[in-house]
Amino acid sequence: MAEQRNRWSWDVAGFDPWKSSPPSQSPPPPLEHADRKPTAPLVRRYSISATSVLPQPRQSVALKLQRLKDKVKLAREDYVQLRQEANELQEYSNAKLDRVTRYLGVLAEKIRKLDHVALETEAKIAPLINEKRRLFNDLLTSKGNIRVFCRARPLFENEGASVVEFPNDYTISVNTGDESLSNAKKDFEFDRVYGPHVGQAELFSDVQPLVQSALDGYNVSIFAYGQTHSGKTHTMEGSSYDRGLYARCSEELFDLSNLDSTSTSQYKFCVTVCELYNEETRDLLLEAGKNTPKLSLGSPECFVELAQEKVDNPVEFSAVLKAALQTRENDLAKNNVSHLIVTVHIFYNNLITGENSYSKLYMVDLAGSEGLITEDDSGDRVTDLLHVMKSLSALGDVLSSLTSKKDIIPYENSVLTKLLADSLGIDFFFPLIIFDVSAY
Ligand code: ADP
Repeated sequence: MAEQRNRWSWDVAGFDPWKSSPPSQSPPPPLEHADRKPTAPLVRRYSISATSVLPQPRQSVALKLQRLKDKVKLAREDYVQLRQEANELQEYSNAKLDRVTRYLGVLAEKIRKLDHVALETEAKIAPLINEKRRLFNDLLTSKGNIRVFCRARPLFENEGASVVEFPNDYTISVNTGDESLSNAKKDFEFDRVYGPHVGQAELFSDVQPLVQSALDGYNVSIFAYGQTHSGKTHTMEGSSYDRGLYARCSEELFDLSNLDSTSTSQYKFCVTVCELYNEETRDLLLEAGKNTPKLSLGSPECFVELAQEKVDNPVEFSAVLKAALQTRENDLAKNNVSHLIVTVHIFYNNLITGENSYSKLYMVDLAGSEGLITEDDSGDRVTDLLHVMKSLSALGDVLSSLTSKKDIIPYENSVLTKLLADSLGIDFFFPLIIFDVSAY
């Protein structure tokens, strides 16, 4: 009932909806008894023919005159009634217009009040959200700004028996085969260890908090480090039925941002993808002849301008990434000796608090870390491997300097560390490194 009472109706009190009724042959009611509601249009009850106005014998002229007078009288009555109807219709439509105008006024006022309440609420919760972000990120930082996860892929049939064991979630035990030792097994500890049967979803559950941090305005880096064929690309890219970190991170970014966005605070995401080969960058989104807007990566001293693509959902992100990977595929020879840097640039803007933030989520598939140079390697291959070794060792030096809280961090030793300096600094946020260890 209450619902019905509040329901808007176009009807105007005091007026029945105007309808045209079928023409009636019966004479109209006398004016003084006419209903207020508008009635159907009148049927003309008189006609003036040519014979009625042409000269006729005297007697019939008098008769015709009388008839004409009657008709004029009827026409007058009809005219008066039509005027009445027209006035009623005019009154009716004016009343309806008035009612609609008033209702629109009420709606506009309601919207204004709701907007006001929304703004007030947002202003109240903005400090709480900031506090929540700070506490969340303090908590993550307390676990360490640099975290190293270790993942082992399943063995292929031709790889023999495994020499790696997983005694717990934080340790891998490698059988060195050194019989001279009393214990041939050597243990390595990590922030988390994932055995061969751990799937992409479980691994992502540990990465998820970092995505939240990136959205909160911190720079985050995720590296996949390991030898060729150890599973770096599987971890980052995965497949359509077993999506890797690129897809899962982007989905999480959009999901979280949809939860956080309001009419006055919004996120914008742009993607850049580049390859770093022999200390030189190659923009994988740059299309010849296309004037794509650019975003820079790196510091004022060392930066690269890359074509950016704005993405509004995970599907668009995947399409952009797919195009970039396709461009990279065309030069397969380089794949194992180049680093792939996928960056999501996150722009946040809050109209109420005036807060603006810009953060980056770097997802880096590093070149294979084997670095073994053999006599058979060509000069070009040796050059490639030396560059990979140099940049990986520069990255290692930066991370170990950060971990031991050294005063000077050697970012300058490679283009990789120079470009990613803003997300490798202890002042910013932590990189997560995923070591993919193939079976020994
Ligand atoms: P990398 O990028 O380190 O050279 P890949 O990711 O290409 O290595 O992995 C080599 C092979 O191992 C691929 O065929 C990949 O599908 C498979 N692989 C890697 N990791 C896993 C895993 N965790 N589970 C199942 N297969 C894997």
